[in-house]
Amino acid sequence: MDQVSVAVVGAGIAGLTCARELARAEARVTVFERSRGLGGRLGTRRQGNFAFDHGAQFVTARSRPFVKYVEIAGRAGVVLPWRPRILEDDRAWDAPIEEWHVGAPGMSALVRPLARGLDVMMGVGVNELLQGQRGWEVQTDSGRAPRTFDAVAVAVPAPQALALLGPHGRTFRHIADVRMAPCWAAMVTFDAPVDVGAEVRRWTTGALSWAACDSSKPGRPVGPQAWTLHASVPWSREHLEADSQEVARLLLHEFGRSTGTPLPAPSHLAAHRWRHAYAEQALGLPCLVDEEIAAGACGDWCIAPRVEAAYESGRTLAHSLLSTVGLASPALLR
Ligand SMILES: Cc1cc2nc3c(=O)[nH]c(=O)nc-3n(C[C@H](O)[C@H](O)[C@H](O)COP(=O)(O)OP(=O)(O)OC[C@H]3O[C@@H](n4cnc5c(N)ncnc54)[C@H](O)[C@@H]3O)c2cc1C
Repeated sequence: MDQVSVAVVGAGIAGLTCARELARAEARVTVFERSRGLGGRLGTRRQGNFAFDHGAQFVTARSRPFVKYVEIAGRAGVVLPWRPRILEDDRAWDAPIEEWHVGAPGMSALVRPLARGLDVMMGVGVNELLQGQRGWEVQTDSGRAPRTFDAVAVAVPAPQALALLGPHGRTFRHIADVRMAPCWAAMVTFDAPVDVGAEVRRWTTGALSWAACDSSKPGRPVGPQAWTLHASVPWSREHLEADSQEVARLLLHEFGRSTGTPLPAPSHLAAHRWRHAYAEQALGLPCLVDEEIAAGACGDWCIAPRVEAAYESGRTLAHSLLSTVGLASPALLR
C-alpha cells in the first residue's frame, strides 16, 4: 500500500502535535504554515539581543500525555520551570501554586521537539481546500500544492478553520458556534530595571490583565529588562482597530498607573494584536472529524484557551484520522 499522505494546516502546537503523531504512525505529512516562525500563539518576538513572549506566557501540564511531552521537552533543554513572584490585584504569592513551565530561550522553543524531522512549508498560507478526484488539493498563496493528500487536518483559529472547512459538510458548521476574543500585547524594554513589586502582575478589572517581566524567565539572554503587557479582552475589543504605536503608548501608561510606579522612558516599545487570542466560547469537543471525507479540525478552541488543550486536541485529531485512513495509532511518546 502507498504511504498515506496528510496535509496539516498550521504549525502551532495543535498542528505540530497532530503532524508528529501522524508521522509516527508512518503517514507522509506536510505542514503548511503561513508565518515564518513555528508555534503560532506560543510566540516569541525577537528584538535586538532580546526576545519577548508576546503570546502564551507559561504552560501548566495536568494530563498524562502533556506531562510526558513537557518532560521530553525538558530533557531537550527547551522547557524550564518558572517561579515568579505574583501580585494579583492586591494579593501576593511568592510563587505560582501550580508548576509553571516556559520555553527556553523563548516560548516558541516549546514546540521544537515536535517539529523535528517534519516537512514544514514555512511562509505558505493555505487559502482553500478542494476535494479532487485523487484526493485533497491544497490551494496556497503561492499556487496549488504539487501533490494531493488522502486526508487534511486544519489546526488554525476557529474563524480561519471555518473558512477552510465550512464548505465541506455539516460537521464543520459547528465551528461557527465558537467565539474567540482578541488581545493586544505590548512589548517594552527599560535600560534601568523597574521594580513593580513582583515579576508578574495580574488584574481582574481595567485595561491591563497581565504584565510579566520576560527577563525573570529562565534561559533568557542577558540584556535590558523586558516586559510583556497584555490588555484585557474588553479593552482589546474597544481598541481592536487602533494604531499599534498608539496602543503601545496607552498600555505603557496604564502599566505605570496600575502599578503606581514612575517608569523611565522605554528603550523599546511595540504592540502586537492577537485578533483571535482566546476561545471565550469553546466547541466542547476535543476535535472535529468527518470520516467520510477524511478531514478534521483541531486547536485550543475545541477545548479551552490553553496550550495543553491545543496539544490534546491535535493529538486526538491525529488518532481519529489514523483510524479513518486505516493506520494504527502509535504508543505514547517516550
Ligand atoms: C496573549 C495570549 C496569552 C496566552 N497565554 C497563555 C498562557 O499563559 N498559558 C496557556 O496555556 N495558554 C495561553 N494562551 C493560549 C495559547 O497560546 C493557545 O491556546 C495555543 O497556543 C493555541 O495553539 P493552536 O495550535 O491551537 O493555535 P495557534 O497557536 O494559533 O496556531 C495556528 C497556526 O496556524 C497558522 N495559520 C493560520 N491560518 C493559516 C492558513 N490559512 N494557512 C497556514 N497557516 C495558518 C498560524 O500562523 C499559526 O501558526 C495565550 C494566548 C494569547 C494570544
